[in-house]
Amino acid sequence: MTDIKSMELTEMADFFQALGEPAFRAKQVFQWLHRGACSFEEMSNLPKSLREKLSAACILHMPTVERKQVSAQDGTVKYLWRLADGNCIETVLMRYHHGNTVCISSQVGCRMGCAFCASTLGGKIRDLTPAELLDQVIFTQKDSGAVISNIVLMGIGEPLDNFEHVMRFLALVNHPEGLHIGMRHISLSTCGLTEKIDKLAEYRLQLTLSVSLHAPDDETRSRIMPANRSVGVERLFAACRRYFEKTGRRISYEYAMIDGVNDADWQADLLAKHLKGTPGHVNLIPLNHVEESPLKPSRRVSAFQKRLESQGITATVRRKLGGDIDASCGQLRRKSMQNG
Ligand code: SAH
Repeated sequence: MTDIKSMELTEMADFFQALGEPAFRAKQVFQWLHRGACSFEEMSNLPKSLREKLSAACILHMPTVERKQVSAQDGTVKYLWRLADGNCIETVLMRYHHGNTVCISSQVGCRMGCAFCASTLGGKIRDLTPAELLDQVIFTQKDSGAVISNIVLMGIGEPLDNFEHVMRFLALVNHPEGLHIGMRHISLSTCGLTEKIDKLAEYRLQLTLSVSLHAPDDETRSRIMPANRSVGVERLFAACRRYFEKTGRRISYEYAMIDGVNDADWQADLLAKHLKGTPGHVNLIPLNHVEESPLKPSRRVSAFQKRLESQGITATVRRKLGGDIDASCGQLRRKSMQNG
């Protein structure tokens, strides 16, 4: 069975040609799929015989809403989707002044093992397909009625550990016949897989790369982020510099502030030293407390911010949305796993 929703338009055209159908049918089907059609049957501008042929040859799945939480504070919506194979993933819809943003998952679970993150507690189950990445945007838009203008790949999973599918998803979601979301409206967040950062740089996309840094020294970073052990902070920053040189795009560094772990003055100084000379922006995030973890939110966020700024580094404190609905990644999926 063919996963037709994961296909790019040119591949779909080849597929239709092989079926003995004219190429313009590919465009029609592509448009239907990207608008959230749930069956070939509803594609009313296709002949019945073609709809039957497609139903027999292709799989067409869509996620179903397993749970949905709406924040009373700010209208943030968190979806727990059930996929066709029974696994669950999360998507969050955030309503910012600059547009509606979805935060999507890239894998079922995660194998990166970060000490502060709920998504990695049960390990990685599998990668999401391009269609499953796309469906999170399509069906969040369809269910909520909110037109999505921005996407962040910051949900469950490590997007660069699912590289090929994520690249295909980016091409799909960017396509003029589909949702046509501009690369400048897309952010991709990584824990810092340097080889994949180099590979991504080759595409010279206009998206924003976010690097989850969380510590400027190897001792701390390797302790809270096992993926650092084989790379190290120096090599990570070298990859970030190459990325900037190749793409001209400033990197945004995520830094979740953890009490007594990464919030000391010397760590702000070391971070400033690393960032000197490479344009970048630091996002300070108050740690979201995860039940299973002993790590606590820092009380030094603004002191740390001031210390960075006094050394010429721009740092903002991320506004927290959806605090009343477990809107941080992995927490809802985790709860549903424990309950059932
Ligand atoms: N694997 C990718 C994307 C998923 S995580 C990455 O590592 O970037 C999205 C962001 O949320 C990352 O910056 C991650 O470090 C951060 N994060 C995870 N758990 C958190 C927590 N409990 N509090 C604050 N930020 C957290």
